[in-house]
Amino acid sequence: MRVIPLGVGGWVSNPLLGNVSLIVEVGNSRILIDAGEGTYRALRGGCSFDVNDLDLILITHRHGDHVMGLPTLALFARSRGITLKVYGPRDVDLEKLFDALGIPQYLPAIDFHPIDPSPEPLTVLISHDYRVTAILADHTVQTLAYRIDGSDGSCITYSSDTRPTRNIVNLAKGCTLLIHEASGNPGTEEVSHLHGHSTTSEAVQIAKEAGVKYLVPIHYYVESPILSNVGNEVSIVIPLPCTPIDTQRLK
Ligand SMILES: [Zn+2]
Ligand SMILES: [Zn+2]
Repeated sequence: MRVIPLGVGGWVSNPLLGNVSLIVEVGNSRILIDAGEGTYRALRGGCSFDVNDLDLILITHRHGDHVMGLPTLALFARSRGITLKVYGPRDVDLEKLFDALGIPQYLPAIDFHPIDPSPEPLTVLISHDYRVTAILADHTVQTLAYRIDGSDGSCITYSSDTRPTRNIVNLAKGCTLLIHEASGNPGTEEVSHLHGHSTTSEAVQIAKEAGVKYLVPIHYYVESPILSNVGNEVSIVIPLPCTPIDTQRLK
């Protein structure tokens, strides 16, 4: 399995970082997780993919830095005559979004499957190449974290935006790689939690509790992330746009 970040920044971050959006290549399938503002540009321009390379889109929540890119993907999908299969929390109101943007006629390019978030791991989808499991994260709006198990035995979990929560620990158990948001640096816990986020040190702690070997901190804000006291149990993988993280190399 390979994870290719298209963007690694939070809603308020250096524009060069883009918004968090990940391509997961598993078997012969490509899954896009989250589609914030600028996802199409990142997909086409920076990372040389196209909408017809995507077999599935997983949306974690309705904040703009995770969903604002979806209408543009729908425009291009419609022009190619394809439909995008999209899963996300029931809270994501695509009808309202497309209507607000003045393009309700492009909504049929999205085949939306709403998920009712659960504090217990919920199997969302099983295909030949992968299984997708979701769990409720702890954010300011209804948010899902996703786990993808590949048929090759590899596994990744993406926390999405969340305060530190046992739900992510439970979801990530047994995975090689946890991609966890790290919006604040140590010492900013109070303000980070206020906005439904975690700090770098909390992301490290969740990774340790889940027993994953590798942590990808993501969703940076305005300051560079500081990772201190990481210890030996977990290694940090720095995500860079368009740069693959191959789980085969993370044994
Ligand atoms: Zn966000
Ligand atoms: Zn958010």
